[in-house]
Amino acid sequence: MSQLYTRVALIGLGLIAGSMSLAMRRAGLAGEVVGYARSPQTRDVAREIGLCDHIADDLASAVAGADLVVLCVPVGAMEAVAREMAPHLATGATISDVGSVKRAVIDAVAPHLPQGVEFIPAHPLAGTEHSGPRSGFAELFDNRYVLLTPEADSNPDAVARLRALWQGCGAKVEEMDADHHDLVLAVTSHTPHLIAYTMVGVADDLRRVTDSEVIKYSAAGFRDFTRIAASDPTMWRDVFLSNKDATLEILGRFTEELFALQRAIRRGDGDHLHAYFTRTRAIRRGIIEAGQDTDAPDFGRIARKKD
Ligand code: NAP
Repeated sequence: MSQLYTRVALIGLGLIAGSMSLAMRRAGLAGEVVGYARSPQTRDVAREIGLCDHIADDLASAVAGADLVVLCVPVGAMEAVAREMAPHLATGATISDVGSVKRAVIDAVAPHLPQGVEFIPAHPLAGTEHSGPRSGFAELFDNRYVLLTPEADSNPDAVARLRALWQGCGAKVEEMDADHHDLVLAVTSHTPHLIAYTMVGVADDLRRVTDSEVIKYSAAGFRDFTRIAASDPTMWRDVFLSNKDATLEILGRFTEELFALQRAIRRGDGDHLHAYFTRTRAIRRGIIEAGQDTDAPDFGRIARKKD
């Protein structure tokens, strides 16, 4: 594939930025990939493993001259980073992000950007429970969706170029309204993560009663929950705080359904349980048929980082 940007700056050097850098370099999509992270330790690791073509020691020099800047930091850190980098952005540059929540990121970032740059938010629906500069791998986005949430007045050429970049990284790209994105992701990702965190917390409480049995006899369902609940605490704290309304809405519906199942169990209403589980089984089949998961029960994540 041909080069789409001359200089791409990745701000934050964790799982997503690392995977982006490797995927872009795999396909030759950028003349140069420059990385920057706030901590010297992360920058040192990134240099040591050759994560990007160049690692900058400050934010200003990382974004200077870049025709694409991608914010790959936790959602709660986006505003401060946008404010600090804004005076150093090149006119005509595209600014994007990979945050798991879109409306809060738009509200946090857009007001700080100067005239003459194009802001096109994005969210790759791909991840693992690993984080940090060593966790990235080039195949992370292969056959996964990336959702772009441009505004109505976004420059179509800039949107098309960013779409091509993500496609070059192996992804399938769709556009979506930012608020709709946040509701959809509250259902498909945010609330399931909260439930996994809760289930593992419950089991941890129970462990005090059953000693190590919860670990020793950990069945597939619980193991999947523990993998989800091992996800980065900062990232997920920020997701819930910045997608509060949609998460609370879905959590309310979840609680109602849970009470209905609880009542069916208490009343011995097997028909209700069977009909419910039949419906949910069909949803699972639909996801596998859509190519978004395998038969392995790992919540759509990649169970093991590829070497
Ligand atoms: P990660 O591996 O934990 O890396 C986060 C990076 O952000 C690190 O380089 C870290 O810098 C930097 N950072 C953290 N707090 C910061 C702050 N307050 N100011 C400046 N920089 C800060 O994270 P990730 O999984 O790549 O996630 C990055 C973004 O992608 C998040 O917005 C997340 O919502 C989104 N996302 C994640 C997934 C996933 O499954 N992980 C999937 C899709 C989208 P230091 O190393 O120097 O501390």
